[in-house]
Amino acid sequence: MPATIIDGRAAAAELRARIAHDVTELPEPPGLATLLVGDDSASAVYVANKRRQCVQAGMRDLHHHLPADIAEHELAALIDALSADPDVTGILLQLPLPAHLDTAALLARIHPDKDVDGLTEASAGRLALGTPGLRPCTPAGITVLLDRAGVHLDGAEAVVVGRSNLVGKPMAQLLLQRNATVTVCHSRTHDLAAVCRRADVLIAAAGVPTMIGPDAVKPGATVIDVGIHRTETGLRGDVDTDAVLGIAAAITPVPGGVGPMTIAMLLRNTVTAARLTQRARAAF
Ligand code: NDP
Repeated sequence: MPATIIDGRAAAAELRARIAHDVTELPEPPGLATLLVGDDSASAVYVANKRRQCVQAGMRDLHHHLPADIAEHELAALIDALSADPDVTGILLQLPLPAHLDTAALLARIHPDKDVDGLTEASAGRLALGTPGLRPCTPAGITVLLDRAGVHLDGAEAVVVGRSNLVGKPMAQLLLQRNATVTVCHSRTHDLAAVCRRADVLIAAAGVPTMIGPDAVKPGATVIDVGIHRTETGLRGDVDTDAVLGIAAAITPVPGGVGPMTIAMLLRNTVTAARLTQRARAAF
C-alpha cells in the first residue's frame, strides 16, 4: 500500500483558524515586529507572507524595513527598544543578515518571552530544560503534524538527519520530550542509511536533495521531509519521495508538507508570547 500523504497545508489551515480564534480571546491583539534588513528578494517574500498571515489572524503588523548598511549598534538599539516596548508581543529578526552584522549577538538581545522564532540562547536553554518557552517553528510544526497523523512517539525510534540549531537539534529535543528514543545524524555519521533504517520516525533535515532513498527507510516508517530545493523538475525535498512511497507508512510531500506549518507555528508562538507576557505582568 502506498504511504499516506501527510497534508501540511490542511494542518496549517486548521491551526491558523484556531489561532485566529485564540487571538479574539486575548485582552488585546498581539503585535508582531518583523525586522527585515536589506533587500534580499527571498527574505522579502518570506517576511511579506508572515506579515500577511499575521494580519489575517487578527494580529498587529509592526514591520521595520532597515537599510542593508545599517550599523550594528543601531539595529541593537532597535531590538532593545522593541524588547522593552509593552506594545510589542513578538520580535522576528529575518535571517540571514548582511555579513557585517553579528547574528548571534543581535539575536541574543531579543527578550526570550518575545523570541517567536525560538532561536535565542535563552529559548534553546528553556527547550533543553523542558521549561515553558518559545520553540523553533519548523520542528514545533513537525510535532503538530506527527500528532495530527496519529504517529505514536512514546518509545519510538526516531532518527533526525541534521543537527542545525534551526531544525535538527531542537527537533531532537522535542522528540526526546515526547519520550522517543532519539538518534541525531550529521555529515560525519557512518553508514547513514543503516542508522536511518532503524527509524520508526525519520526526520530528514540535511539540505541535500533526495538523499534519503529506499535503502534508508524502514517498512512502515513515518518520514518527515524538511528539505526544500528548487530543481529543474520543480521543488524537491531531502527524500526521494517516489522511491520510498511503497515502503513508508506516511510521508510529508514537498511542497505542501512541513513548509506550510512553519509560518503557522510563528503565529502560534506569537499567541504563546502574548500569554507569557500576560503571566509575567500578573506576577508583579
Ligand atoms: P543546515 O545546512 O544548517 O544543516 C544541515 C545539517 O545536515 C548539518 O547538521 C549537516 O551536518 C547535516 N548534513 C549535511 N549533509 C549531510 C549528509 N550528506 N549526511 C548527513 N548529514 C548531513 O540546514 P538547516 O537545518 O537550516 O536546513 C535543512 C534543510 O531544511 C534545508 O534544505 C532547508 O532549506 C530546509 N528548511 C526547511 C524549512 C521549512 O519550513 N520547510 C525551514 C528550515 C529549513 P554537519 O553538522 O556535520 O555539517
